[in-house]
Amino acid sequence: MKPTIKDSNVENIVIIGSGPAGYTAAIYAARANLQPLIVTGFSSGGIPGGQLMTTTFVENFPGFPDGVLGPELMDLMKSQAERWGANLHESDVISINTDLYPFELKTLDKSIKTHSVIIATGASANRLGLINEERFWSKGISACAICDGATPQFRNEELAVIGGGDSACEEAAYLTKYGSKVHLIVRSEKLRASAAMIDRVKANPKIEIHWNTKVDKANGNEWLEKIETINLQKVKGEIKVKGLFYAIGHTPNTKFLNEKIDLDKKGYIACKSGRPETSIEGIFAAGDVVDSEWRQGVTAAGSGCMAALAAERWLAEKNLSKIISRKTTEPEKKLNSSAFNEEEVNEETFDSNSQWQKGSYALRKLYHESKKPLLVIFSSPSCGPCHVLKPQLKRIIKELEGKVQGIEIDIDKDQEIAKQAGIKGTPTVQLFKDKLLKTQWQGVKQRSEFKEAIVNIL
Ligand code: NAP
Repeated sequence: MKPTIKDSNVENIVIIGSGPAGYTAAIYAARANLQPLIVTGFSSGGIPGGQLMTTTFVENFPGFPDGVLGPELMDLMKSQAERWGANLHESDVISINTDLYPFELKTLDKSIKTHSVIIATGASANRLGLINEERFWSKGISACAICDGATPQFRNEELAVIGGGDSACEEAAYLTKYGSKVHLIVRSEKLRASAAMIDRVKANPKIEIHWNTKVDKANGNEWLEKIETINLQKVKGEIKVKGLFYAIGHTPNTKFLNEKIDLDKKGYIACKSGRPETSIEGIFAAGDVVDSEWRQGVTAAGSGCMAALAAERWLAEKNLSKIISRKTTEPEKKLNSSAFNEEEVNEETFDSNSQWQKGSYALRKLYHESKKPLLVIFSSPSCGPCHVLKPQLKRIIKELEGKVQGIEIDIDKDQEIAKQAGIKGTPTVQLFKDKLLKTQWQGVKQRSEFKEAIVNIL
């Protein structure tokens, strides 16, 4: 391959993935005036923002002595990348044509030509595949305790987490806020989590650890009621739980590469130790997709920085960089004008014309009095996908010039409302018109899907 083409329709750098590696690469490439395009990922490979979106407090990322919520940290990285001129495209890359130059990427909705690529697609949470897993998925079984833990069905019930790493320990500790007891089910005789995390779990009287135990079946009626276990001595058991959460590791997101780039034996992108270059010149990799060993937010960010610097040097060497001059940029203004009220409202602060309000008071008032469609998002405090979805919903409301009103319900605070609405996980979005539920979505969906449903009932 001889890269020689300079064309205004060709991107300098496309970064695939929007975790710490992707955003750090974007910050460096944008500050080098290369105006990178980030394809954030949408549904394959977890949610935009990566695994930190499903974490509570990150206590080991330097610069945050009191810890920082994972989704908040990712919001900050995103704002920083945007501030310096990175462009975002919300979609998944489904293929890369490395036989063509410039490279051609296909996303869910378009083709993109680019001189260089940084792959930062991370890794996805594994599933166990136990009997009845599909049947009870989102009806008691979840891969994200942090997202779904506050769901009403789990309150004061016994819950279980499978795994023995940092995620399992963190999730078990988190779930003790909601459940009456948490069973941590470990397949071996040891936890592989960090010492501090192990101490936290062992010191928590609400957590019972089941060593050398595997789960092979889930049972129940409409909702999960119990799991069947088997231990090392082949003794079968049963634990009555209303929630089962997987924290059993991750698989690197490389399927879309279709074997065009060399992978190592474990399926991670093969790079020379400590270097970001892949087997294809002009394509670099960073973060968890290349790292089966360290897998930390800060190591991912560091490798994103290296990938951006390597890509910048490579583009300059080949005389391919298209330097984008830009005016001084300021962080994007948040949509928190009086039309978008982020505070919980009451009788005094409620505004019937507001485009976005929070809390059960606003919901009751608008449900009975508003003639407009109502978009209600049920969120929970540390739900990463909710962080992804809320700005999208606000953007739709803004685009529709207030013809629809948004309400946020924190299911942790408004448990009764969440129960009445039959909420099984967050985020759940319900669309009402004239007191009738028109549509309901669970999880993050494309903006166009929400917009289309609203426009249809205007
Ligand atoms: P992990 O370290 O790979 O641990 C996966 C756990 O799942 C292991 O205990 C493993 O058991 C178990 N497991 C795997 N397959 C299983 C199966 N089929 N049945 C039952 N158990 C199974 O994954 P992780 O906990 O998600 O952590 C990933 C990385 O993120 C780590 O580097 C971790 O330090 C980091 N992390 C950090 C934090 C934090 O600092 N706050 C939080 C979360 C994650 P074996 O031990 O027997 O293999």
